[in-house]
Amino acid sequence: MKKFAVIGNPIGHSLSPHLHNYVYNSLGIEANYEKLKIQINEIPSIIDDLRNGVLSGINVTIPHKENIMQYLDDINPRAKSIGAVNIVMKNENKLFGNNTDWFGFTMSLKKNEIDVSGKEVIVLGAGGAAKSILFALKQSGVKKIILLNRTLQKAEELQDEIVFPNSLDYSVQMIKNDSIIINTTPIGMLSEQCPIDLGLLHENQTIIDVIYTPFQTALIKFGNKIGAKTLNGLDMFIYQALTSMDLWFGEDISKQVNFTQLKTYLENKLC
Ligand code: NAP
Repeated sequence: MKKFAVIGNPIGHSLSPHLHNYVYNSLGIEANYEKLKIQINEIPSIIDDLRNGVLSGINVTIPHKENIMQYLDDINPRAKSIGAVNIVMKNENKLFGNNTDWFGFTMSLKKNEIDVSGKEVIVLGAGGAAKSILFALKQSGVKKIILLNRTLQKAEELQDEIVFPNSLDYSVQMIKNDSIIINTTPIGMLSEQCPIDLGLLHENQTIIDVIYTPFQTALIKFGNKIGAKTLNGLDMFIYQALTSMDLWFGEDISKQVNFTQLKTYLENKLC
């Protein structure tokens, strides 16, 4: 039986084992998926497990998406340009890193009819998830991205002709009544906190939070309350996971899965 895992810290929130094991069971795939709480100094032992076949593949989540890259033999050029890897697979005894987060995010925008083409978007956070989302936004043809991060220097490292970095403290000056706001920080995942002042939210905004546990963060709850268009991270999460399976098994597994049934199954796990 093939064994897969997601590595991260914190990891308790991850629905990945539920999602993957549900799909493996429903499609009769002989595989098992678990979550592993891994500190940064434990990454080399996971790499050993991949090399010696104890693990057939891993997903990588907060905060290891950038650190993992130095241990891999090869990285997909797109993932390299994004600067973050969320899936590792073994190919002819070599460890190969890729990124399915950007595609997951793009698909979630499409599914929820959120059109960012030609628009200005505000992204909160400049970590692994933000890098994938910046790539997806550029692919979708955004006009301008205002990137707000606690550590300004990390946002500045991502600056280019359409990415304009600033400190998260400047959100008051940057956020408009009709902004598209995307939270990629983990604020709201383990607490009722919000990455920006709730007073900045407005009904004409589109508010996206990549967090899916809790199902509704304080940011999304307040957005819903005032009538803004909101989207949580569950659709992105499902699409990135299905794409990971397609890469591991080399088949179009995603096409055999009923998205709505899978989403309902996961939503029930979150309640
Ligand atoms: P990461 O690489 O560790 O980056 C975290 C970012 O958030 C950094 O920019 C960090 O700022 C900022 N941040 C963290 N704590 C903060 C705080 N207390 N105040 C202000 N800023 C703070 O993490 P990641 O991999 O990008 O993941 C971020 C979140 O996205 C997690 O909740 C993860 O579960 C979620 N995610 C969801 C999906 C999905 O499929 N739905 C996919 C990927 C990630 P500094 O630079 O100042 O440290």
